[in-house]
Amino acid sequence: MALLRSDAFVLRTYKLGEVDQIVVFFTRELGKIRAVVRRSHSLRRHIASLCQPLMHLHVIVFARPQQALFRVNSVEVVESFRSLREDFTALRSGLYLTELLDVTTHECEPLPELFELFQTTLAQLARAPTAPFLMRRFEVRLLALIGYAPQLATCVRCARPLQPQDRTFSPALGGLLCTACAATAPQPLRVTPATLAALRALAADEAPLPPGDTATERELERLLHAHLVARLGRELKSYPFLHL
Ligand SMILES: [Zn+2]
Repeated sequence: MALLRSDAFVLRTYKLGEVDQIVVFFTRELGKIRAVVRRSHSLRRHIASLCQPLMHLHVIVFARPQQALFRVNSVEVVESFRSLREDFTALRSGLYLTELLDVTTHECEPLPELFELFQTTLAQLARAPTAPFLMRRFEVRLLALIGYAPQLATCVRCARPLQPQDRTFSPALGGLLCTACAATAPQPLRVTPATLAALRALAADEAPLPPGDTATERELERLLHAHLVARLGRELKSYPFLHL
C-alpha cells in the first residue's frame, strides 16, 4: 500500500454501511479522490469530525492497488475558515463553490491550478463575502481550466469574426453569435455592452470596470449560470440557496 500526502478540501461525505464514512476530497496532488474513514473508535471519529466542507486540510491516505477507494490515515487542519461558517452569505457561497468543484471534476485528474483558485477564492470570501465579481471570477476561471470557457472571440456557430454590435449569447451552444446566426439560435440571451465587457475582462483575468455595477453583475451571473447548466446538463443543488 502506498502512502500519499496532499492538501485537500472536502467536497462531500456519505455513509458506507453502519460504521464507515466515505469522504470525497479535492486534493492538490491527486485531484478528486474518494477515501474511507472507519468510525469504529475515538481516533477515527476525530478524523471524521474534521472532514467537513470548507476546511483546508492536510491528509495522508493509503492507496490500495487496483482500488479506486483510498483509506484515510490522518487529517490535520491547515485553515478552518471559521468565518465562512459564521456568515450565512459566505457559507452559502462557499458551499456553492464546493458543489461546482465537485460536479465539474473527475476522479484522479490532478488540477493544481484549480485547487489554488478554490483556496484563494475561499480566503477572499472569508474576508469580503460580497466582494464584486468574486463568484463570477471563480466561475470564469474554473470554466477555462476544465475546457468549457464561453466562446467570445468568434461566432460559436459559424466561426465568423464578431462585430461590436454582436451581443447575443447562446448558453446551449456555449458562446456569442453573429447577427445572422443569432436570428435562428435556440434561447438566445441578449446582453448589455457592460456585461459583455465584464465577461471579457474576467476571461482575460482583468478586473471588470466599474467594480460596483450590481445590474451588470446580476446579468453576468444569469449568463454564466445558464452556460454552466447547459454544460453540466442539470441544475446545481446549492444554486437556489444563493439568493435566499
Ligand atoms: Zn455565426
